[in-house]
Amino acid sequence: AYRKGGYHAVRIGDPFSGGRYIAQRKLGWGQFSTVWLAFDTLTSSYVALKIQKSAQQFAQAALHEIEFLSAAADGDVENTKCVVRLIDHFKHTGPNGQHLCMVLEFLGDSLLRLIRYNRYKGLKLDKVREICRCILTGLDYLHRELGMIHSDLKPENILLCSTIDSAKDPVRSGVTPVLEKPEGNANGGASTMNMIEKKLKRRAKRAVAKISERRGSMVGTLGEEGSSKTERCLDGIDMRCKVVDFGNACWADKQFAEEIQTRQYRAPEVILKSGYSFSVDMWSFGCTAFELVTGDMLFAPRGCIDYEEDEDHLAMMMELLGKMPRKIAIGGGKSKEFFDRHGDLKRIRRLKFRELEQILIDKSKLTEAEAKEFAEFLRPILEFAPDKRPTAQQCLEHPWMNVKTQNNEDHVEAQMNNLHMKG
Ligand code: ADP
Ligand code: MG
Repeated sequence: AYRKGGYHAVRIGDPFSGGRYIAQRKLGWGQFSTVWLAFDTLTSSYVALKIQKSAQQFAQAALHEIEFLSAAADGDVENTKCVVRLIDHFKHTGPNGQHLCMVLEFLGDSLLRLIRYNRYKGLKLDKVREICRCILTGLDYLHRELGMIHSDLKPENILLCSTIDSAKDPVRSGVTPVLEKPEGNANGGASTMNMIEKKLKRRAKRAVAKISERRGSMVGTLGEEGSSKTERCLDGIDMRCKVVDFGNACWADKQFAEEIQTRQYRAPEVILKSGYSFSVDMWSFGCTAFELVTGDMLFAPRGCIDYEEDEDHLAMMMELLGKMPRKIAIGGGKSKEFFDRHGDLKRIRRLKFRELEQILIDKSKLTEAEAKEFAEFLRPILEFAPDKRPTAQQCLEHPWMNVKTQNNEDHVEAQMNNLHMKG
């Protein structure tokens, strides 16, 4: 994929945007891009540099993402709405063509890694609650204030926050940035460095002159997965996170894609092609919250010779949530592929109904009382009727979100104060 129209090959120490950003190490990649940790020599902080493949359709997709990220940044001056911040964007010309690059605030590992790190056993409830509060804060902002649907919410697209310390202050974070290409990493590019780059580099060198040899891992970045048999301890770690990946976002009143969302997090109305709105993100949120508690995906459909993935998915939903109301089942553009006129599935006739609360008891470490309370929070979010699902704002006000625990006390108190003031 490192060919014309494809990814841009990056080496550690490579300069971008006239030398302002220096590549440090690869953070991850997606279908369209590679993402690098970079050092911003202008602000002496770490950033994430998302470098898009160069072909026209990828450039188009990047422009689309920039539109949504910019709107999100414009409405969130204080950067408190749990959405990744776009800092800058520019074009970078390389041997494979011209690449659009996004400079994003540097975040930590994804919730998917967090779930794996915990060996698919699920997180403690107060951690789940903290994470849910962040996701809901982000969704409430996107939906109510911006009129935006994320359309691809899932654990992979929610990243833990690295602390301000590590992002802003390399001295305290103990991570020394690379400011030039290490020996043996020559690709001839260094000699083309212009005056501005050199000036910026000198400035960066001064900024990090006092950096000690000490190297530590950044907060929000987890260790290796599965390396020890002991229980992972996340006690005392503040589980703040942010929503990322706006490559599939759309405006509620200006949609273009019919098929949205990643399979396991896809809402029933998307499968049935009945039209969708903000509540598709709430469905994905419900699936994500379940996964955080249990370590297992809520729905992991698989097709077979007799029926396809979509029908398996619909069957799984009904086994958990009861029969889909007939009107909803037969009301979509694709309903006839799956349902007969009575609202029964055509190919999967025998469903094994299960109780959400019981699954929670079986699959997680929750007590019966905890499982009951969490099920009461989760169940309405998974309503088949999209307009019956609670909004992100309503979820934030749900009693389960405001249970009094050690970690939650401060927050609840702040909310009470807020109420008193409003009252
Ligand atoms: P794509 O649209 O190609 O899926 P993403 O925006 O999801 O790209 O980014 C791909 C991967 O890069 C993520 O899964 C994550 O590992 C990493 N990543 C993306 N943004 C950041 C960021 N702001 N900070 C740290 N890592 C990031
Ligand atoms: Mg992604």
